[in-house]
This record gives sequence, structure tokens and C-alpha cells, in this order.
Amino acid sequence: MTWIDPHCHLQLSDEDPQALLDRAPEVDWVVVPGIDLETSRQALALAEDERIHAAVGLHPHEASKWESERDGIAKLAPSGIAIGEIGLDYYRDLSPRDQQRSAFRDQLVLAEELDMPAVVHCRDAFADLFELIETTGTADRVVLHCWTGGPRWTKRFLALGVMFSFAGPVAFETGDTVRRGAELVPPNRATVETDTPYLSPPPFRKEANEPARVALVGAALASVWGVSIDEVAHITSANATRIYHP
Ligand SMILES: [Zn+2]
Repeated sequence: MTWIDPHCHLQLSDEDPQALLDRAPEVDWVVVPGIDLETSRQALALAEDERIHAAVGLHPHEASKWESERDGIAKLAPSGIAIGEIGLDYYRDLSPRDQQRSAFRDQLVLAEELDMPAVVHCRDAFADLFELIETTGTADRVVLHCWTGGPRWTKRFLALGVMFSFAGPVAFETGDTVRRGAELVPPNRATVETDTPYLSPPPFRKEANEPARVALVGAALASVWGVSIDEVAHITSANATRIYHP
């Protein structure tokens, strides 16, 4: 059984990226998203390794840097395989919301121009996120990473045409809402990921996450869907390959 981890920030981990991959022999390849210009550069440097691919983008927490980093990000982007991590985060509100929206919109358009998938983060901002994806007509390239929406938003985004990626929260004891949303997602519309070094699934909740634990996320999704773990590994790997064509 092999897995793909299409969302792990190896460059943000305290541990050596190579050591983390060595501990995950069952993971075929990974995508390392940037969160700003510097970490996107680091992701591209890591992508010298044949199991590592990079995404380039500005995270909503960093959106106040958009004016100063947009040219650099646009220049680096063609060297990666996706645009990300981009999106909206009204929970932590670390950048002003209008700047989050313009950075997100511009980067969706960039993904469209470069014919690349867009790796999208969303927290407490479903309505604005939905509207920006809809108005830019970019749903067919959007992957909603670490999807935590419940049934109502899951249905709306399903109808919009996006892909969903599940992370640790689908395995959390407190993850009932996430699991009720996940139940509605057809297997051909989903991937699994770790979001390393964050969101480590049980029984490792208190530790830094790593790509090897993508199998625990897959196991949680298998029990939500009532299918075998093997089937989840197979279909999510096929989906990731189709989305990112590494
Ligand atoms: Zn992330």
C-alpha cells in the first residue's frame, strides 16, 4: 500500500526533511506548499529531491505582504507544480480581510493563467471563499486543503466543483462535524494529507506531524466511508496524481 502526501510543510518542520521522508517509505511523493516568498523558495529548493514537489504561494496569514511579494511569487510560480498555500482565514485574522481577499483572488487568477491547481486554506470564511472561487471561475482547479466544513458547506462546495483534502481533524475525537461533511464527499473528489508539522492525528496529537502519518488520516477516512484502507490509499493516490500530475 502506498500513499501520497500532497500537503506537508517540510520546510517549516524542526526536523530534517530527508529524515522525515526516510521514515515514510510508503509515501511515494509529497507536495510542499510555501506560505510566503521565502518559504516558497525553500520548497523549490527541497524539490531537487525526486519525491518532493513544490507549491508557491502566499498564505492568508501573510496577506499583508502581497504588494511587496506578488512579483516574486509570480516569477517563482512556474517552477512549482501548484499555487499554494492561498486562501482566507477570518479565525486568526492575522492580515486585514480586504488584503486576504485580494491576495487570494490574484493568486486564483495566477493558477488559472499557469494552468495549475490551487491549494486553498479556509477558516471561518466559507461564504467569501465560495464567492471568490465562483466569480473567478476557478473551481475546477481548487483543492480545499484540510477541509473541516460540515454537511451544509460541503454540499455547496461539492456542487461548485472543487476537490477536498482531508487532514488530521477527520481523525480527531472532536471531529464529528468534519466526518459528517466527509461522508458526503465521493471518493473520486478527495485526497488525504498531513499538513506537517501541524495537526498530528491521534495517537500523536501532541507531537509534530510528519508525512508517515498520512496513513492514519486515510484510515479515519476509510471508516467514515465504510471502505478498506487499501481502497482509500489507492483512490486518493490516483486523485493526487490526476490533480498535480507531478
Ligand atoms: Zn498548510
